[in-house]
Amino acid sequence: MQIGAHVSAAGGTFKAIARAEEIGAECFQIFASSPRMWSSKPIPEKVAEKYKSEMQRAGMGPTVLHGKYLIALGSPDDELVAKSETALQADVAAANALGALGVIFHPASHRGQGFEAVVDKFAASVRKVLDSEPGDTLLMLETSAGAGDHIGSSFAELGTLIRAIGDDRVAVCLDTQHVWAAGYDITGADTLNATIDEFDKEIGLEFLRSVHANDSMRDLGSSVDRHENIGEGFIGNAGFATLLSHQAFKDIPFYLEVPGTNKSGPDRPNLDVLKKIRTQVGAG
Ligand SMILES: [Zn+2]
Ligand SMILES: [Zn+2]
Repeated sequence: MQIGAHVSAAGGTFKAIARAEEIGAECFQIFASSPRMWSSKPIPEKVAEKYKSEMQRAGMGPTVLHGKYLIALGSPDDELVAKSETALQADVAAANALGALGVIFHPASHRGQGFEAVVDKFAASVRKVLDSEPGDTLLMLETSAGAGDHIGSSFAELGTLIRAIGDDRVAVCLDTQHVWAAGYDITGADTLNATIDEFDKEIGLEFLRSVHANDSMRDLGSSVDRHENIGEGFIGNAGFATLLSHQAFKDIPFYLEVPGTNKSGPDRPNLDVLKKIRTQVGAG
């Protein structure tokens, strides 16, 4: 299990590598492009080559790219869906160029249409993106906290989407804060077992390919997406110890998206806390 974090790629994709090393991350997540703007720039081959050789030098684990927050494949607005497909396609192209593990994106909202009503269209959009960008990179649906009409706060919904898409490049990123907010108790050995069993039954554990490791500012079932530093929230150090000792996460890369001690994002103290827990439970 590698423990890393979301880092900034400002100033050039490969600059993220030094930032990750600086805080002791063993793997990292970046935005391939600005998450709140539609534009994306392709990664020049030279940059991709430099990136890959720097990654090797640093001995860094798998990179994941986080898709734009604007992506809304479940929207009734066809123009918005088309823009989302184009943006996601650019991210998948970037991930392929960088040799990244995959692109993580939010299933977002069905905008009042109901989940069942959007499944086929959503699946067709994802297939379109994957068909237009052949390669090894995964497209990972992130578990959602369940606010409003958001898709993917239940494993059943994610499983339904994954089966409808029917492509082996589709996978899931489990965000510990989001599943907690969605009502899945992951902090006790028995409740975690039940959660993992449900994941396996509804989705299939083989689809679990990455974890966002975040503590939670809000309590179980709040539906609120509010990340907290590791050990300072409702999941707590004991909760993460339970989580890290579970077999299901043995070979899964973890990426922190916590506020940070100085509110400047994931930092060394947070990574150190989680790494220490990993050592304590013998998962390293
Ligand atoms: Zn996310
Ligand atoms: Zn996340």
